[in-house]
Amino acid sequence: MFMENRVYQFFRPYLVIALLSVLVDWVSGYGLLTMLVLTLLYAFRQGKNYQRLMKWYEKGSKPSAFPDLSGFWYEIASHAYQLQKASQKRKKQLARIVKRFHRSTEAMPDATVVLNRYHEIEWANSAAAKLLGINTKGDIGQRIDNLVREPRFIKFLQKKNFAKSLEIVSPVDDSVDLNIRIVPYDKDSLLLSARDISERNRINAMRKDFIANVSHEFRTPLTVLQGHVELLESSCPEGTPQHESIVAIQKQLQRTNQLVDDLIQLSKYESASFQDHVEGSKVAVCKLLDSVIQQYQLPECTIELQCDDDFYLEVVEAEVRTTVENLINNAIKHNPGTLLIKVEAHKDELGGYISITDNGRGIAKEHIDRLTERFYRVDQGDSKTPGSGLGLSLVKHILNRHDAALRISSTLGKGSQFICEFPLSRVL
Ligand code: ADP
Repeated sequence: MFMENRVYQFFRPYLVIALLSVLVDWVSGYGLLTMLVLTLLYAFRQGKNYQRLMKWYEKGSKPSAFPDLSGFWYEIASHAYQLQKASQKRKKQLARIVKRFHRSTEAMPDATVVLNRYHEIEWANSAAAKLLGINTKGDIGQRIDNLVREPRFIKFLQKKNFAKSLEIVSPVDDSVDLNIRIVPYDKDSLLLSARDISERNRINAMRKDFIANVSHEFRTPLTVLQGHVELLESSCPEGTPQHESIVAIQKQLQRTNQLVDDLIQLSKYESASFQDHVEGSKVAVCKLLDSVIQQYQLPECTIELQCDDDFYLEVVEAEVRTTVENLINNAIKHNPGTLLIKVEAHKDELGGYISITDNGRGIAKEHIDRLTERFYRVDQGDSKTPGSGLGLSLVKHILNRHDAALRISSTLGKGSQFICEFPLSRVL
């Protein structure tokens, strides 16, 4: 109905012109001329209407200056006005949301920086100035790696592996430690946030120092005790109750000594902060593994070595040696009886791997995720197995320092496998 009305509205002037022309033609014979003149006049009027409409539209479609139009020109103008009004409302709403977002990120103590695909800064809050030295106005459009020049940060950006966070020292204040997180969003934008973690690191350092100091303090009295107990043992005939007591004391002393050694070693690696990220040197993996295995000549245990000859890692040799020793020691210590240990090392297009597999008693599933926690030990029902529960924690720390990871899998009754996974950047 509406549509029909509009069609009629559109054609009505032409009908009127046609009728008038026919009438004039009937009266005077000038019908054609009349039609021509009336059509021109009508076209001129339409042109004027169009001009009025465009002028009003270009000047911002203000309701106060609504053009004097009629018919479908009036309809077009009102539609344009409604659309403009709706879009202005949307724009205002959007501007309010953006303002609110800016205000809330401004209030955050964490630095927030929006980067485009070329790592150029599109927006930054004022905490970014304080923590990262980014001028929130002057540095817009600058590449972030021109401002934060820490090589590890540049590598982190280039690698595009943003699942992990990165810890660096603030480029503005070297007493401030920062935790950097990058979240990709949209198609190729990045949201970077930097959090001040100096306080957390200071407390951690205090805890580690405390453990290290206490462990060192224990060492001297333990050595003195050990000396005295050895003296007593030599002066006590074997088989007597006194001798048995001395042997028991000696065993406990050895355990405590081991615990103190493990604690000192662990706190040494733990206190090496992220700044001491180890570079290492070229190490021939097969040679290293072979020399470790030579230390274990036990009748009940067979150790097999399988290794890619051309496998070299860029690591700290002593630390990787400690790792492998710990894992082989564990296999022997926690699996009494005849045992086969396979030490394998190989590399592929993703990285390098050293694995230690045993066919021992295995570890129940519920313990696997907790094995690398400090002091975590699986209750095997025999309290005789020596250990402090610090070995795997130490292994994990050493591997972390080498950007590597420890993967553990085990089946009860079948055995366990510990795989040290080194990233490709460490494989030479
Ligand atoms: P511990 O000083 O007790 O060896 P670790 O941190 O090295 O401490 O190991 C944690 C626990 O993991 C051990 O107490 C042990 O129960 C279990 N474990 C580690 N390696 C093996 C293994 N190869 N076979 C069975 N259990 C193991």
